[in-house]
Amino acid sequence: MAKPPKPNRKVAPTQAGVRKIIERLDKAHPGAKLDLDFTNPLELLLALILAAQARDDLVNRVTPALFAKYRSAKDYAAARLEELGGYVRRINFSRVKSRRIKDCCAELVRRFKGEVPQNLDDLLTLPGVGRKTANIVLGNAFGQQAIGVDTHVMRLSQRLGLTKNTNPDKIEFDLTPLVPENQRVRFCHLLQYHGRRVCFAKKPRCPECTIRSLCPYPDKTKA
Ligand code: SF4
Repeated sequence: MAKPPKPNRKVAPTQAGVRKIIERLDKAHPGAKLDLDFTNPLELLLALILAAQARDDLVNRVTPALFAKYRSAKDYAAARLEELGGYVRRINFSRVKSRRIKDCCAELVRRFKGEVPQNLDDLLTLPGVGRKTANIVLGNAFGQQAIGVDTHVMRLSQRLGLTKNTNPDKIEFDLTPLVPENQRVRFCHLLQYHGRRVCFAKKPRCPECTIRSLCPYPDKTKA
């Protein structure tokens, strides 16, 4: 069996190093943004609930009809579960996710006047909402500089030597002091884009990677 590649130990996890990573990825992926479609905080929150272990493009295919049918948290809370489920049946775990959407919206109506709260503590009290979802909502719907650790942010942060943790919440805490505060959302978008296009989970395209010289594993896939 081939030996795993050795890390380049000269690459240290520092804020200066992260700035360089952002600079280079920004040039490589100028259009990097969140892949989920939404027009308001509620739509983003619900799209994220649907996107758990599902592809964003599939979620984007079902949400236009869903968002056109139900316009407010009150509408979702009052919806019949079977009818709601019909709009998302192409997504995996559609029954569980329909129930989560309904429960989450019922809580929004009961405790937040039907509005999505703009702070982490309140978001975390909603059914089906963890730190990743809450931070992505804060960062992308409310313009706050929060780090949402999805599968790409997790994998690339590990490969780039920015964390040794495997738990997403711990990874967020490792990244927070390393990523300049005004760049946290941008950093996540760039890692997501790079993870989808270059640094794949299997066979990353190292020889053509723009941040190869900043990566502790520049030969994870050899030329
Ligand atoms: S050099 Fe390879 S492992 Fe490192 S970030 Fe680039 S693609 Fe990923």
